[in-house]
Amino acid sequence: MLDKFANLNDENLNPMDEILLEEQLMNSLLEEQPQAKLLHGKPVAESIMDDNLSRCIRLNSQKRPPTLAVFRVGKRPDDIYYENSIKRHCEQVGVRCQTMTLPPTIREDEFAAILTQAVQDHTIHGIFFFSPLPPNLNEAHLRSLIPPAKDVDCLSNAAQAALYLNQPGAFAPCTPAAVMEMLRFYQIPIAGKQAVVLGRSLVVGKPLSQLLLAANATVTVAHSKSENLSQVCWQADIVVAAVGKARLVQGGWLRPGQTVIDVGMNPDPERGGKMCGDVDFEAAQTMVEAITPVPGGVGLVTTAILCRNVIEAAERQAAHHG
Ligand code: NAP
Repeated sequence: MLDKFANLNDENLNPMDEILLEEQLMNSLLEEQPQAKLLHGKPVAESIMDDNLSRCIRLNSQKRPPTLAVFRVGKRPDDIYYENSIKRHCEQVGVRCQTMTLPPTIREDEFAAILTQAVQDHTIHGIFFFSPLPPNLNEAHLRSLIPPAKDVDCLSNAAQAALYLNQPGAFAPCTPAAVMEMLRFYQIPIAGKQAVVLGRSLVVGKPLSQLLLAANATVTVAHSKSENLSQVCWQADIVVAAVGKARLVQGGWLRPGQTVIDVGMNPDPERGGKMCGDVDFEAAQTMVEAITPVPGGVGLVTTAILCRNVIEAAERQAAHHG
């Protein structure tokens, strides 16, 4: 390293050469920074989708096409974006996707009747609706109408209870399942390791903590009232950020040897129109062993898991009915 600086002190250098040398030096210094292994979501999603395809071909050849019913209330852009991604993934492997858009003015009993119809329809294997629902609808009640066998994103209390009781049969919610799939695909050891989950929402943080626990990690769940977050993160082997705060987790909170899974998807305050995670990626990348990028990480895997759950539900139903 010192040799490189030595040339800069050469009095015979002209200013242009000096600038070029400085640039080369900066580039080589950057290259020498330890760079974390990038845990891309694409190969993980592709491997799940490959498996989905072969399982789907089998079901379709048995005239049992796996079918997902998707309900969207209103026209929230995020929901429409996710719905399009679901349709695309389903189409790719041959899962039938029936989408229904409902007006925000729909009454709870009307929505309940539509859901009940889907529950009773034996040709539908998975049911999913976007949340949050408008405040005039009792979401907990509507979620409870979906039986665990068709609850492909773990919306109901019954499915969540099964998850917490570590009972087989119910599906884990897709995003936490996607995190576990990333860890499995990249062979990150979990059993016996310290894992910290930042965030305790019912959608991501809490169910993920249960999945990590079931995989024998020692789990800490942190939230907005947690003290010494930096210390909590520093001690962990696996740090999962699911907070929804752009770049909350700073480089100084992290250390070599760690795996960082960034679930956050936030508008980037520094780069208008772009997305960023809950982790300061640039800083973290030079500190830790492995990290997921945002975008391009966990988000890519979630919909592949939803597809897989529908196929699994259809296979279970086929096995049950012979
Ligand atoms: P959420 O319901 O808003 O929950 C956020 C959690 O983070 C809460 O538990 C909150 O703590 C905690 N929190 C907030 N500020 C904090 C802080 N300064 N320090 C520590 N903890 C803090 O969000 P969510 O639905 O779980 O989503 C989290 C992130 O994941 C969002 O960026 C979302 O866009 C993203 N997401 C990604 C996917 C995907 O497929 N990649 C799917 C779903 C969500 P309290 O409980 O104390 O309020």
